[in-house]
Amino acid sequence: MKQLQIGDVTITSIIERDGPWRTPAAMFPAYDADLAARHLATLDPEIIDPVTGMMVITYQTFVVRTPHHTILVDTCTGEDKGYPAPMDFPKTRYLEEFKAAGLSFDTIDYVFCTHLHIDHCGWNTVLRDGRWVPTFPNAKYIFHKREYAAWEAATAEGKTPPGEVWRMNCLPIVEAGQALLVDDDYSLDDTITLTPTPGHSPCHCCVNIFSRGQRAVVTGDMMHHALQCREPDWSTIFCWDSAQAAASRRSFLATVADTATLLLPVHFPGPTAGHVTTDGDRFNWRFFHG
Ligand SMILES: [Zn+2]
Repeated sequence: MKQLQIGDVTITSIIERDGPWRTPAAMFPAYDADLAARHLATLDPEIIDPVTGMMVITYQTFVVRTPHHTILVDTCTGEDKGYPAPMDFPKTRYLEEFKAAGLSFDTIDYVFCTHLHIDHCGWNTVLRDGRWVPTFPNAKYIFHKREYAAWEAATAEGKTPPGEVWRMNCLPIVEAGQALLVDDDYSLDDTITLTPTPGHSPCHCCVNIFSRGQRAVVTGDMMHHALQCREPDWSTIFCWDSAQAAASRRSFLATVADTATLLLPVHFPGPTAGHVTTDGDRFNWRFFHG
């Protein structure tokens, strides 16, 4: 997708990187090669690289323009963070796409983070004169208060991750007075609400977008790949609580399956947006090419 319309709301994707990233075997501890091969034969071809067998993974931000606000959902890995390979890829594409979408840093009103992992809060801050400062000077940043508290506590215990990720991307936002630490029931103009889907991280949330009876959901890392619709119990090596992540995935997918709700999973490759349908105790994923 580049742009979608949900009622009065326009959603645009800003891509930081895309392409083959890692194999499903390296991503899912419960991976089964025969099962995966059977599922991949029935799924959209965009999701797997036929040469390397790697999952095709996108890092992207969704720009949500309502009649009142310009909102970013998730902010990729960011610039100048000093991360080792492979997270040190060039960031010029992101900045070019941001500009091409007609945006500048000072026109952003809100930033939502589905969770506070390295690839979802990076552009929250930029380095200015040796200090991390909010990239978007006029924005309020929405963090779930228990997600923030959990990573703050883990950082205080010396754990990495989150370590520097929280110190560089989250703490400076709070110190600048630009954070709104919210609970499950937060809503913005009845257009944006949260659905808690904990497990991948302590309080991961999906971000709902409602307008004129239509609904889209930025699903963050509730799932990383369409194989997880076929095998909802396949959590990733990056999940904080694998069993809880799987339970959240199953219950969330059950509520949106066989409906018109459009899902926007951050890491799904173009066209990214899609629908799910039920298939016994599994789900089917189909991209929306509209
Ligand atoms: Zn992610």
